[in-house]
Amino acid sequence: AKKEGRNRFCWFDLSMEAEARIRREMETAIRAGLERGEFTPHYEQQIDLETGQLVGFEMLARWHSAELGEVSPDIFIPIAENCGLIGPLSEMLIRRALIDAQSWSPSLTLSINISPVQLRDPWLPQKLLKLLLGSDFPPHRLDVEISEACLQENLAAVQTMIVSLKNLGVRVSLDDFGTGFSTLTQLRTLPFDRVKIDKSFVGELRRVAQASPELMHNREQQDHIVNTLVSLGQGLQIPITAEGIEDASILETLRGMGEMKGQGYLYGKPEDAAAVVKRLSELDLL
Ligand code: C2E
Ligand code: CA
Ligand code: CA
Ligand code: CA
Repeated sequence: AKKEGRNRFCWFDLSMEAEARIRREMETAIRAGLERGEFTPHYEQQIDLETGQLVGFEMLARWHSAELGEVSPDIFIPIAENCGLIGPLSEMLIRRALIDAQSWSPSLTLSINISPVQLRDPWLPQKLLKLLLGSDFPPHRLDVEISEACLQENLAAVQTMIVSLKNLGVRVSLDDFGTGFSTLTQLRTLPFDRVKIDKSFVGELRRVAQASPELMHNREQQDHIVNTLVSLGQGLQIPITAEGIEDASILETLRGMGEMKGQGYLYGKPEDAAAVVKRLSELDLL
């Protein structure tokens, strides 16, 4: 199956019936997986690129299915969204993440992802409030990431939702910045606390740096995209995170562009709660 934009899959060589059957089977597997506790929150480090210090973690869902093995969130999140299971799945993961994060140093933040379907739920702020009240994790250390894909929809409704979320005391970040549809006007109007430059642009920084001289023109173009996104954020005085930092050369390029946070495989793959505790105890951040 090849991903074709958010929420859309095109199952090459498969008939409509076969696709529908696979979706139903995935749905059944997700339901069973939820009951069996196969979904777990993992955590990706977020770093202050200037100081190199760990400043927080982004929670990312992981599914180890008894029948299917490891399934990527790029596959199961859209299916869970379509079959109405994203709510229960996400609530369970956020509940666990808030409890995991209670033991972390007060200097550390927790980021969570909220999908477009969840953002349309008028009860989302209430649900998040309930989850926050069920833990000792302070709202101001929680960062809610919403994808730029959400801005395609009713903008007034999105704005109202962002304000309601911020009224809980949490921060709201624009995820996947650069991949889509936000205009300068939207960025100025919507009260985002941070923008996260999508890994597709950040990754190009290295690929083009290693590419042959014939691609130098392309390199300048790609550098230009990251530069443009960074300048946009800086111009609007919105703090920036770069995601998908895979190696030291990318890190160096980004550090040259100014103050920002970053995350990516250079710092390690997302790890489970126990591994995070081990890491934090070594850093004296528990
Ligand atoms: P995202 O929020 O943009 O998360 C970043 C993705 O990039 C993660 O993939 C992460 O593992 C991966 N990544 C991290 N560092 C690097 C790197 O250096 N290079 C590259 N190429 N990739 C890197 P993952 O965990 O597979 O998640 C995919 C997407 O699924 C996420 O994209 C997010 O949109 C969604 N997702 C994951 N967990 C949840 C969840 O609990 N709820 C919701 N609604 N969405 C989730
Ligand atoms: Ca994210
Ligand atoms: Ca992204
Ligand atoms: Ca994303």
